[in-house]
Amino acid sequence: MTSTETIDHGASRFAARTHGMLIGGKWGPAASGETFTTIDPSTEQVLAEIPRGGAEDIDRAVRAARAAFDEGSPWRRMTPSERGKVLHRVGDLILEHADELAMLEAMDNGKPVTVARAADVAFAADVFHYMSGWATKIEGNTIPSSAGDYLAFTLREPVGVVGAVIAWNFPLLLCAWKLGPALAAGCTVVLKPAQQTPLTALRLGEILQEAGLPDGVVNVVPGFGDAGARLAEHPDVDKVTFTGSTAVGKKILHAAGGNLKRLTLELGGKSPNVVFADADLSIAVPAAASAIFFNHGQACNAGSRLYVERPVFDEFIAGMSEYARNIKLGPGVDPTTDMGPLVSDVQRDRVMGYLDSGYADGAVAAIGGKSWGDRGYFVEPTVLTGTRPDMKVVQEEIFGPVVVAMPFDDPNEIVATANDSRYGLAAGVFTRDIARAYRTASQLRAGTVWVNCYHVFNAAVPFGGYKESGWGRELGHSALEDYLETKSVVTQL
Ligand code: NAP
Ligand code: MG
Repeated sequence: MTSTETIDHGASRFAARTHGMLIGGKWGPAASGETFTTIDPSTEQVLAEIPRGGAEDIDRAVRAARAAFDEGSPWRRMTPSERGKVLHRVGDLILEHADELAMLEAMDNGKPVTVARAADVAFAADVFHYMSGWATKIEGNTIPSSAGDYLAFTLREPVGVVGAVIAWNFPLLLCAWKLGPALAAGCTVVLKPAQQTPLTALRLGEILQEAGLPDGVVNVVPGFGDAGARLAEHPDVDKVTFTGSTAVGKKILHAAGGNLKRLTLELGGKSPNVVFADADLSIAVPAAASAIFFNHGQACNAGSRLYVERPVFDEFIAGMSEYARNIKLGPGVDPTTDMGPLVSDVQRDRVMGYLDSGYADGAVAAIGGKSWGDRGYFVEPTVLTGTRPDMKVVQEEIFGPVVVAMPFDDPNEIVATANDSRYGLAAGVFTRDIARAYRTASQLRAGTVWVNCYHVFNAAVPFGGYKESGWGRELGHSALEDYLETKSVVTQL
């Protein structure tokens, strides 16, 4: 091994090789021969050249997934127990290659390698391990029939060929969120990773092969929005599972109408964090800070609207500012980095555009508020005060390390204020009063409410959105349900 390989666990070597797309168990170029480059957003350097999948490649991949789903295929012949063992092996292999995967994620996305290792990679493995257990526990019911002398029972069957289109913020983890339940259910998949971050999806394709997944069960076609759009409209795709913006989610909804595909949509958010004056601030301040600064705010569930009861507002903002001041910005691959760059120049410019609009509307940065460094797409962790409910920075998803913080006076009105959003993905509540915590949690219109904590995920706990944050759920038993059909079989006795 060379010294670079020792340090980055083979990630650079993987990035530098000639990449293919995975269709029907074979790696190869795009039908068009086109490629695109992916970069390291910390350095703006090109990392890898990737085949650019287009409609023709999606069509080939869907044919492969269809064949792999056909009755009598190796995948359909596998017993649930064998299927579970393959999925478990995927989880094991992810852990075996955890350092390499974490480094690839840090290079391609910009997130700190230590975070990628502890959060993205470990959780991805956990999702495969958790879902592997479900493969043997997919059961129907026997149903007492009042129609007469009939035996009625249900079968749970895989929904079929699934198109998975994902965002760049948790590149490997989102693959696991989609593939884990889809494969446990017995589906086959065409996966299109985000253009900014294709590397770990390609490496995962190899891992799936090594784990013994039959050819064509998972096909990985890197590309742009046109490839995703072809999947969404494809007449031979039975379901699309999507993670990304609400705007693209709505496009997918329309495209999927042609053959009434099943849909799982994990979309945007503008999640409120509500801090009552009785909260333990030694818990609430770091939780509210990590709610927005984790993953540089590039998390659909980021706690991006902060409401603090007035008596403790100033102390809270001082605490948040102190936390932000201590965040060490740096390249993702540096193990001492706390926060890396945003994923792209587009994303950096988008966030800076929001900051400018906030300043123009009268908001003030209590801390941060500027871009950072002369290379890479860094933005300082930022706390905006002086914001009002009608401002764009309060209404729209910024998807960067920017929280809008507002004091409130009436605890009876804060739920309505927190619910004043077209999104409903997540929310946080901080209080020592258990009755208030429970009441507030039940009144908030969000798919997840964290009480005295934030960003606490588990493979067994469902996650997903109310309102324009999406349809369906990821993780847990709920996710599995979304990849199954129910068939009723009624027999005259
Ligand atoms: P995006 O533009 O919606 O892209 C997401 C994916 O959709 C990418 O793979 C993209 O391809 C593809 N795509 C673009 N146009 C398409 C079309 N017309 N049909 C089908 N696929 C299409 O989102 P983004 O900017 O990458 O990610 C940020 C957004 O995602 C934020 O709004 C965030 O809230 C949301 N998000 C939500 C969750 C969640 O779990 N709820 C998680 C992460 C992110 P390209 O690679 O070419 O862009
Ligand atoms: Mg990249």
